[in-house]
Amino acid sequence: MDFDDTPQEAEFRARCAAFLDQHVEKLDPNETTPNLLGEREDDAAIEAAKKWQATKFDAGWAVLTWPKEYGGQGLGRMENVIWNQEEGKYRTPAAIYSIGHGMLGPTLMAHGTDEQKDKYLADMARGQEVWCQLFSEPSAGSDLAGLRTSAVRDGDEWVINGQKIWSTGAHFCDWGMIVTRTDPNVAKHAGLTYFIVDMNAPGVEIRPIKQINGASGFNEVFFTDVRVPHSNMVGKEGDGWRVSITTLMNERVAIGAGGGGGRIKDLLKLAQDVKRRGKPAIEDGAVRQRLADFWVTSKGLQYISYRTLSALSRGATPGPEGSIGKAVGAPLAQQMAAFAMELQGSLGAVTDDDFVMQESLWQEAYLGAPGLRIAGGTDEILKNVIAERVLGLPPEMRADKNMAFRDVPTGPTTK
Ligand SMILES: Cc1cc2nc3c(=O)[nH]c(=O)nc-3n(C[C@H](O)[C@H](O)[C@H](O)COP(=O)(O)OP(=O)(O)OC[C@H]3O[C@@H](n4cnc5c(N)ncnc54)[C@H](O)[C@@H]3O)c2cc1C
Repeated sequence: MDFDDTPQEAEFRARCAAFLDQHVEKLDPNETTPNLLGEREDDAAIEAAKKWQATKFDAGWAVLTWPKEYGGQGLGRMENVIWNQEEGKYRTPAAIYSIGHGMLGPTLMAHGTDEQKDKYLADMARGQEVWCQLFSEPSAGSDLAGLRTSAVRDGDEWVINGQKIWSTGAHFCDWGMIVTRTDPNVAKHAGLTYFIVDMNAPGVEIRPIKQINGASGFNEVFFTDVRVPHSNMVGKEGDGWRVSITTLMNERVAIGAGGGGGRIKDLLKLAQDVKRRGKPAIEDGAVRQRLADFWVTSKGLQYISYRTLSALSRGATPGPEGSIGKAVGAPLAQQMAAFAMELQGSLGAVTDDDFVMQESLWQEAYLGAPGLRIAGGTDEILKNVIAERVLGLPPEMRADKNMAFRDVPTGPTTK
């Protein structure tokens, strides 16, 4: 494992910092992390994000890993990691492009027609058009291939009916990528087809979902006789599962790259500032023991993420570290937030920044933590991945594997 930048990486890092210094405010590394968790994605925030993306694009700092022909810079994943690390040191607008740039763009590059790539990728890269992922349904999340939204061919068009849910950002997106069932008479993975859908098309209804932190970052999206041109099919008819896997693999890489954990520095600071029996809480033995546990787990995650970085730096493809990072990092984030609230006593239940320390960072983190444990693969699904693909344990029973989708039981069996 090599923790240091190569000379080329150090030079690239310096160039990133020079550009960022010119355009955005640098955060003070000695201060507590500012609370950006509860940022609301209102019109002004979306406009600011679009402006920042255009500034980066025009200066050659957008979608670094995309090929140049699609508006990217043709750089490697290591450069992208360095850019993300450097950008993370600055106060920048809401991150509204991670799904489009990290998951949907690469899917279109891998499976789209030349016409689709020419039509969509440059605008996606410049950020003037924002994209969402329309995969999950009320009864299809972990078991995505069980989805029921249908697409039926009608001449040169397909007609979509059904419902998606948890669609992040759908309320401000221009385009979505949707997986539909086009053939219920074959096994569930075989009858799926993937499309690009215009979020402003007649019949698309977007209803924001209110979350426990008061925000509405994701939505229910209803499709009633929505017409999509045949030319918007991505991949072949019936090949939607293979196309979706490309999206999901990119999602895992994007989530795993975060390294998880974080914020231990802020928790130590909180324990110094909060008093317990008249003394800083950090002097209490029981508090110190919990902090030490969190610190050790955070360090473990940090070293796992360094291992990924070293692999990237050598040009290798990262292995299962992504799943481990999220499987450990998401519960850790939740436990640390719960402990931080406990340390604050009754103020732990208050979210008014005038009263609460660290801009209610921990209250926001606590309310957002359950979502972290679900999005991009729940704890249990990640453990299944580790069990089956890393440890080589026997796979789960898949009773519906070779059954036509229409024959898969959907409720209790009757005698
Ligand atoms: C913040 C957030 C953002 C999201 N954004 C999007 C988005 O933009 N687009 C999109 O399409 N979706 C999105 N999702 C949805 C997300 O992909 C699903 O919530 C996730 O896949 C889990 O599916 P589910 O909610 O249907 O839960 P289910 O799959 O119904 O799971 C319910 C419970 O059963 C457990 N379980 C399920 N199967 C197994 C198994 N085989 N073995 C053991 N335990 C199992 C799960 O771990 C969980 O505890 C988002 C979710 C969140 C929280």
